[in-house]
Amino acid sequence: MTGPAGVPAGGASDGPGEADWAAAVAAIRGLPADGRVLLICHVNPDGDALGSMLGFALGLRRLGVRRLQATFPGPPEVPEPFRGMPGLDLLVSEADADPEPDLVVCFDAAGASRLGGLADRLTGPGPALVLDHHASNTGFGDVNLVDPAAAATSVVAEELLARLGVPLDAGIAECLYVALTTDTGSFRFEATTPAVHLMAARLLATGIRPGDISRRIFDSRPFGAVRLFGEVLGRARLEPAAAAGHGLVWTYATQDDLARHEQRPYVLEALIDSVRCTAEADVSCVVKQTGAAEWAVSMRSKGAVDVSRVAVALGGGGHRFAAGFTGRGTAEDVVNSIRAVLPGALIGDGTS
Ligand code: AMP
Ligand code: MN
Ligand code: MN
Repeated sequence: MTGPAGVPAGGASDGPGEADWAAAVAAIRGLPADGRVLLICHVNPDGDALGSMLGFALGLRRLGVRRLQATFPGPPEVPEPFRGMPGLDLLVSEADADPEPDLVVCFDAAGASRLGGLADRLTGPGPALVLDHHASNTGFGDVNLVDPAAAATSVVAEELLARLGVPLDAGIAECLYVALTTDTGSFRFEATTPAVHLMAARLLATGIRPGDISRRIFDSRPFGAVRLFGEVLGRARLEPAAAAGHGLVWTYATQDDLARHEQRPYVLEALIDSVRCTAEADVSCVVKQTGAAEWAVSMRSKGAVDVSRVAVALGGGGHRFAAGFTGRGTAEDVVNSIRAVLPGALIGDGTS
């Protein structure tokens, strides 16, 4: 696809072009009176997925759009840390999601497969608008606002709201702040640019309370989860020779571990942060059981390895330094598959 004067319009590598922004604004402004909008974020939603979706939904509501639903595929359970977020009243289960909306808007999903059973909404009567920041985004929407330079999908959402003339209020800002802090590791990761801090300043200026929000989202978990983390971290393994000597640290958690400690699967999302701090390893990995022989795999890198290449090679995706995939077999099988692919994912070896 090309834009005016043959300029590539919004190729994923260079972010959205003016033509893409204009098409997105037109899709929303062109909604019929009483038009129905379905917002969808990726399966197993994180703070960026939920925050960008709900923040944008609240913005559409301010714009006067009344028939709004927000949803994600899979069990409709919202992880406990997100249960105080504004806009949750708009959330419906996958089963209750409008089968034929006038407009679909997708958040933080690099490909249609991340939308699970809701992917069929992409081919419905209304156009599909995609807001995302994964370099690997497949461009699966009719209009794609994909900016790999954006620290979070909420950066794209804020820009689109601004172009629609929607002012930030505290509700929108809290959602976008949850998203921004999630994907920047609370302003610690490389993605934390001056633009990120300027956006954070705009959000904070609405009066939201960052201390309360961060405590709720990042620094609060049941005591059972604290004990579960202790057990799972106790079995972590360090492999200094892996990844051509850059080192690998990994651990796994089974469904039985969760049951013993009476914990829900989402508590394991925070585990990677306790594993990736291992100084002796560039690559960290947590393998989380989701079925008899199925595992959700989280990987992080400190800079020597492009873990998105590891993930893509194994059927998943993500960013250079944070990626994931679905693994099969035993936890050992999954780690074996990662170990085998790691040497081909070194950064600066001429192939990256
Ligand atoms: P996580 O470790 O779950 O926080 O995910 C890190 C990054 O990898 C995020 O950008 C996800 O979108 C991406 N990711 C995780 N799991 C998958 C998967 N199964 N398929 C594609 N991308 C994934
Ligand atoms: Mn995400
Ligand atoms: Mn994201």
